Amino acid sequence: MKNIIFIAPPAAGKGTQSNLLKDKYGYVHISTGDMLREIVSSDSELGKVVKNIIDKGNLVSDDLIFKLLKSKLNSIKGKPFILDGFPRTLNQALFLDNDLKIDNYIVIYLDLSKEDAIKRIDGRLTCSCGKSYNLNDINLKPKIIDICDNCGNVLVKRNDDNLEAFKIRFDVFLNNNKPLIDYYKNKNKLKVVNVNKGVNEIFNEISKVVAND
Ligand SMILES: [Zn+2]
Repeated sequence: MKNIIFIAPPAAGKGTQSNLLKDKYGYVHISTGDMLREIVSSDSELGKVVKNIIDKGNLVSDDLIFKLLKSKLNSIKGKPFILDGFPRTLNQALFLDNDLKIDNYIVIYLDLSKEDAIKRIDGRLTCSCGKSYNLNDINLKPKIIDICDNCGNVLVKRNDDNLEAFKIRFDVFLNNNKPLIDYYKNKNKLKVVNVNKGVNEIFNEISKVVAND
C-alpha cells in the first residue's frame, strides 16, 4: 500500500477523509500540527523552545520539523502513513524525496473551489477529540445536536471560521501550494479528487485511487 500525502484547501474535509482511511486501511495519520502540539504539551526542553517560537507568532523552522518528522517516521516502523500538513513548501517536498528517500507515495489533492469552500464552513463544528462535523451535510451532522458522537463532548465552532479570515486563508493556500502541486504533477505523483460531493462519495473515489496504485 502506498503512503499518502494529503494536500487540500481549508474546508475540503481532509481530516474526515484521513480518519476514514485510517479506519479502513490502517494508515498511521501523521499531522505536523499535532506533532507540534504534542511537543509543546510534553513540557520537555524542546517543547519549551517550540512554545516560545509559536507564542511569538513565528514559524517553526524546517530543520526542527524535519527532525520531528524523521523521528516520527522511524517510530512507526514501516507502517503505511498519511502525511497531513506536510510538505507545505518545495523545500519540504525535496526533504522527503532526497533526504528521507521516500518514494512509495501518492499525492492526493482534494480539489474544491473557493465558493464551495465558503458554503461549507458555515455549518462546521469541531470537537476537542479531533472529530469534525457539518450541519449543512447530512452525512456529517452529529446525532445529537452540538454533542460529539465519538466522545460526548460539546462541539464548538472553530474560531478561525470567521469568513474574511477564511477567504484570506484560502487564497494563501492556493498561492503557497501552486509550486508544490506543479512539482508533484511533473513527478506523476498527483491524483486530483474533486470534493464537491458527499463525504461517502469522496471516500469511494479516494479508495479507488488508493487501490489502483
Ligand atoms: Zn469528540
